[in-house]
Amino acid sequence: MASLQEEKVFKDPVHKYIYVQDQPIWDLINTREFQRLRRIRQLGTSFMTFHGAEHSRFTHSLGVYEVARKIISQFERNAYSEWPREERLLALSAALMHDIGHGPFSHSVERVFGTHHEEWTCQLVLGDTEVNKVLRDTDPSLPRSVSDVICKSYGKSIVVSMISSQLDADRMDYLLRDAYFTGVNYGTFDLERILRVIRPYQGHIVVKDSGMHAVEDYLMARYQMYWQVYFHPVTRSSEIVLRKIFERAKKLSEDGYTFGFLPPALGSLLRGTLTLEHYLQLDESYVQMTLSQWRLERDRILADLSDRFLNRRLFKYISLQTFPEPWEEELRDWMRRVGVDPDYYTAIDFLSDVPYDVYRAAREEGDSSLPIMLLEGKDNLVEISRKSDIVRSISAIHLGERRIYYPEDRLRLEAFRMPADWRIRLGL
Ligand code: ZN
Repeated sequence: MASLQEEKVFKDPVHKYIYVQDQPIWDLINTREFQRLRRIRQLGTSFMTFHGAEHSRFTHSLGVYEVARKIISQFERNAYSEWPREERLLALSAALMHDIGHGPFSHSVERVFGTHHEEWTCQLVLGDTEVNKVLRDTDPSLPRSVSDVICKSYGKSIVVSMISSQLDADRMDYLLRDAYFTGVNYGTFDLERILRVIRPYQGHIVVKDSGMHAVEDYLMARYQMYWQVYFHPVTRSSEIVLRKIFERAKKLSEDGYTFGFLPPALGSLLRGTLTLEHYLQLDESYVQMTLSQWRLERDRILADLSDRFLNRRLFKYISLQTFPEPWEEELRDWMRRVGVDPDYYTAIDFLSDVPYDVYRAAREEGDSSLPIMLLEGKDNLVEISRKSDIVRSISAIHLGERRIYYPEDRLRLEAFRMPADWRIRLGL
């Protein structure tokens, strides 16, 4: 494998430095498909809630590569015979490429258009792209292997679990990075310690039992980040507004509406005829530039929603916990009566998450997301929640509250036509 004559170094706020020693990794970073990730934020619309969250998928992808590089170098330094040394470049390439198929504001876009970033990742790795050429020139079988690792179908599960499992390079980087850029105090854990206590064992990555507390801390960090950052109600509101913009634009496109402004790649997204070339043009600058033009569209709903997103006039929310189910329909009816289209101005949101899934291995035989196993002594494996009260306590499904979102500013104008109890419910 071609090593670089001189090691390349990136300065990084999370890992301090990121080291590139292989020519193919350096070449992959310099492809147009990978450089595009600089123009896509790691946390989508979270910057509306946490103004520091402007970091890109480029910086996260480099971080995942660096965590994988550190894991492999630890395995090699300790000369663990169970680590297949010939898989090093494959593991590093897959770590670097794992998010390459993400588009702008993936969560909202994927929900409206039914696209999947995983499928785009495979197309980018296997199709006619610069990434494919770098991989192919290194080894003709490398594009297929990289795509198999990312899609979790690669034969050697240790490579897959390094990139995607319940204790993987992806999560280890994004938890630390997202905590750093949002400025929250939770989300941190001792990465160096975890990297010291993991080792390859029977085709998987396991944790030496003395490292249990470091893993507990990591799982708690994940738990906290989901509820405090990723599921933040204001972030959800901005995702909903964006989703409604795309739903409106898609509907207008289907109805044959003539847009005042519609750049080609977005047009093909709306029509469901997106090509690889158009997909690569779509980044967040492209979408935001379009929204700033859509503020001036003839269609009042599209114009208003675009203005709301750009100027952060988001929807407010209330918990539905205290209100019976039919209440949602009543609100929709009332909105219709005052001329606010409920299809584009309300949404129900309900969240759930399993911070750590003990049972997944039993359900999905052969899945790489095995539970986290502690290695006691030389060869006794124990599933972590059997040992740890903390892990056991967060292993159940955690349910968020049901919330309804609505445009408070708009409804306030009509509040005088609303019964008093409704005004109180909506805080108008
Ligand atoms: Zn990732």
